[in-house]
Amino acid sequence: MSLLSLNNVEVAYDKVFLAIKGVSLDVEEGAMVAILGANGAGKSTTLKTISGLLAPERGAIRRGQVTFRGEDIGPHNPPQRVRMGLVHVLEGRRIFEHLTPDDNLLAAYPGRHAKSRYGDLRDQAYAYFPRLAERSRTKAGYLSGGEQQMLAIARALMTEPRLIMLDEPSLGLAPVLVKEIFSIIRTINQTQGTSVLLVEQNARAALDIVDHAYLLENGHVVMSGSAEALKQNPDVQEFYLGGG
Ligand code: ATP
Repeated sequence: MSLLSLNNVEVAYDKVFLAIKGVSLDVEEGAMVAILGANGAGKSTTLKTISGLLAPERGAIRRGQVTFRGEDIGPHNPPQRVRMGLVHVLEGRRIFEHLTPDDNLLAAYPGRHAKSRYGDLRDQAYAYFPRLAERSRTKAGYLSGGEQQMLAIARALMTEPRLIMLDEPSLGLAPVLVKEIFSIIRTINQTQGTSVLLVEQNARAALDIVDHAYLLENGHVVMSGSAEALKQNPDVQEFYLGGG
């Protein structure tokens, strides 16, 4: 059984416009999966549908089902989904800029366990992102773009997710930093078994770390397969990898 399944999901922002048109996809337990596609293809809408962030009257599911850990999560609100182990790192990071990384992590800690658990989770997050640990007491607004992205991911880890969804973590970052962050994401996946659903326009970087990917165009899944198979595909090479 998949950890997450979308079955023929249609989402509309108004009466006529369907932003995603019958999307089906699966994320297996422990897998790393990417959704690739151009601007406006429907990638962010798909993630927001999964995390429940779209207001019911805008971005309503017209058809289909989202199943997480075997349960139809349609009726659950976003905090309930986070408690089930589903966390979404939004595009643009959205950290608390006036707080330090320490306080950002504390704010994200759900607090259902003892304070000592918070300390353990924070130390674990800093172990993945040593660069962030060095700046743990600087206001987050003064961190570089890459460090802010690291903080956004570290904050998501405080909820102890089973599935972490990342919307364009590479946005605005230099290639060397994209490489560093993607490699840390892979390490988190391998050491903790956390599943990852990654939305990216940077197909090349994404296909280097994921197991499986879906290509979204105009609200439709037009292709899916193993990262290796997609990298070999001539259409993918031409349209997504810039000619090979
Ligand atoms: P990007 O990388 O630019 O975020 P995307 O693949 O994530 O692109 P979406 O943001 O999901 O694409 O957008 C899919 C379609 O839905 C686009 O045509 C977009 O204009 C439209 N759309 C997105 N958000 C809204 C909204 N709040 N209201 C109306 N239409 C929207």
